[in-house]
Amino acid sequence: MNTHWFSRLLALSRGLQGKIRRSFLCFFQPAKVEERVSKREGNCDQCGACCKIVFSCPFLIEYGTHTACRIYNSFRPMACRAFPLDRQDLEDVEFNCTYFFPESGHEAPIVPVWDPWRDPGSKA
Ligand code: SF4
Ligand code: SF4
Repeated sequence: MNTHWFSRLLALSRGLQGKIRRSFLCFFQPAKVEERVSKREGNCDQCGACCKIVFSCPFLIEYGTHTACRIYNSFRPMACRAFPLDRQDLEDVEFNCTYFFPESGHEAPIVPVWDPWRDPGSKA
């Protein structure tokens, strides 16, 4: 097995562990989830990176550089709503997320938060 496949396999295994960890916490330790979510800052940029961990979710809709969830207002799992819970979750998307955790020394990302209502021609 060459290095590329080995690192790919390692990333898939990490991603799967992260999915299991988030689901487990959401099911069995909702208070801990709430506490962790209260420590994060920033907003979701709708990049969809967390919807493509291990596999691309069948409910994901992609348009341009942004995404939407077909079940956002109905059956979206708690594990999706709670992403990211901590720095470990951010590692699963290689820190391509606009949420951050100042307490763990993680600074705000430089990626601007997408505003769907902003005029595309506006510099504001
Ligand atoms: S990775 Fe972060 S910014 Fe991107 S969709 Fe998920 S929560 Fe939102
Ligand atoms: S259910 Fe929605 S939020 Fe959850 S991974 Fe799928 S597309 Fe993303």
